[in-house]
Amino acid sequence: MEANLTAKRTGAEEVVWDLSDLYASVDDPAIERDMQQADAQAEHLAASYRGQVAALDNESLYQAITEYEQAIEMANKLASYAHLIWSTDTGNAAYGKLLQKVTEWSSRLEQQLLFFDLEWINAPDDFAQTMIDDPVLAHYRHWLEATRRYQPHMLSEPEEKILSEKAVTGREAWVRFFTEVMGNTRYPYNGEELTQSGILAKLYEPDREVRRTAAQSVTGVLREKLPILTYVFNTLAADKASDDRLRSYQSWISSRNLSNEASDEVVDALIEAVTSRYDIVARYYRLKRDLLGLDELYDYDRYAPLPAAAGEYHWDRAREIVLNAYQNFHPRVAEIAGEFFTRAWIDAAERPGKRGGAYSASTVPSVHPYVFMNYTGAARDVMTLAHELGHGVHQYLSREQGMLQAHTPLTTAEMASTFGEMLVFTDMTAQASDPQVRLAMLANKIEDSFATIFRQVSMNRFEHAMHTARREEGELDSERLSDLWLQTQQAMFMDSVRMSDDYRVWWSYIPHFLHTPGYVYAYAFGELLVLALFARYQQEGGGSFAERYLDVLRAGGSDWPEKTLAPMGVDLTDPNFWQEGLAEIEKMVDQAEALVNGQ
Ligand SMILES: [Zn+2]
Repeated sequence: MEANLTAKRTGAEEVVWDLSDLYASVDDPAIERDMQQADAQAEHLAASYRGQVAALDNESLYQAITEYEQAIEMANKLASYAHLIWSTDTGNAAYGKLLQKVTEWSSRLEQQLLFFDLEWINAPDDFAQTMIDDPVLAHYRHWLEATRRYQPHMLSEPEEKILSEKAVTGREAWVRFFTEVMGNTRYPYNGEELTQSGILAKLYEPDREVRRTAAQSVTGVLREKLPILTYVFNTLAADKASDDRLRSYQSWISSRNLSNEASDEVVDALIEAVTSRYDIVARYYRLKRDLLGLDELYDYDRYAPLPAAAGEYHWDRAREIVLNAYQNFHPRVAEIAGEFFTRAWIDAAERPGKRGGAYSASTVPSVHPYVFMNYTGAARDVMTLAHELGHGVHQYLSREQGMLQAHTPLTTAEMASTFGEMLVFTDMTAQASDPQVRLAMLANKIEDSFATIFRQVSMNRFEHAMHTARREEGELDSERLSDLWLQTQQAMFMDSVRMSDDYRVWWSYIPHFLHTPGYVYAYAFGELLVLALFARYQQEGGGSFAERYLDVLRAGGSDWPEKTLAPMGVDLTDPNFWQEGLAEIEKMVDQAEALVNGQ
């Protein structure tokens, strides 16, 4: 990797962020001072309001929430700085030490503040409703009503404390055990021992033999570990079943839907719509099989690259492409995105010790977001820049809602990022004159959308089958789990991809199923929402659409997602809504077919 760094200049070598808007350095005395101030605030809150929340009048409740919000903002400012600086050099002992210190400190602070949430959640209904409707509290209305939705599922304070303490050696311990087992696992490949990401990367190689051998290695290792992994999956599924029973959740997915601010009906409609269009997946993979010149496409062929790949992009070019696309949409979006470059809010330079991946950190409303990525000059990185700056613009605009209401739920959190990618993708393909390059770009986009929509929903179907079977049949053996996996995956590919017998066990390494059950459908939700919005934008043009879109971004998490989105003409409760986004993917597959046929 270091050889690579010296061999090629991407133009991003000097693109390093300036975190001084948070703190000057890890030794900044303001860090200690802010921790003490937040502690003092939490103590003051407890002394003034503990046992009193349900007896406050409107003015005092407003005052109390303001203090609570300030303490949370301070904790987030500290945590943001510690995380951000640590991501740039994970091997730096001083950064690691600060991160650990802030993590332990903020968990204590959260425990201290817990009473406030609980007392509000458990306050009598008529008191709560009066406060929610009170004009004095209008700014916090959504936070007040959204927090209350957990009421039917909360236990008493002593019960909550026991559950949270025992989870450390229960659920969390099993998840950590899984993470450590998988993290330490090595996969043999031609005499080498590869990490999981190393071996999975081989599935993207053009040489079929490389892909096949890599897939066999993954299967071999998973089969060896299958008794352990099956036991972990069973234990965590049973743990979830008992949690759901104690907290009176109707189905395995209900608690996730509640935290996503999505009703069971909306989510059911989404799943139903996506599974009804698996034919789009099958159509694309038949086309891909022909393009690769194969008689049969096996599971290990799905990620094979198409021949013509896009070239390299210098950082300055990437910046120009993204800002131009944003400018054509709305000047304000380009202006905000531009600040990230001119004010050093982006860290893009690759360097030793820097963690992988990319993110946009909202930090806190009193500061501004920061974007983190590793820029290598690939076309994919231009899309990543567009994606993270989409988040950045959204987070920048929603600061006006304050700490408690700036963040959207998971389902709409990917809206601005995916929309930004669509703007850039449309520009980039329009500019590519070589039909082969356009086809390769289109294929990448289709496969990304599939990964976000169809694959996540097919994984949701596996989770559904697993949790339902665990609740009805008791402990599941690995054969049963493998059957459920193969059924739900084959359903998506229909006859387009042949699932080898080896692929049966590939459910067992996917961490999302254990870390955050039910998580996966939120990706499909966000992407389909954006595809439908983007189609409307293309029909209507910018103007009023762009203005309304900016209003949605400014609203952040200050209302239920369906209300925030209503001005865009989107009705999330209408099952047909999801078909609009699916029709857009189908159009992309049409375009790919047309390019192949030289039309
Ligand atoms: Zn994102």
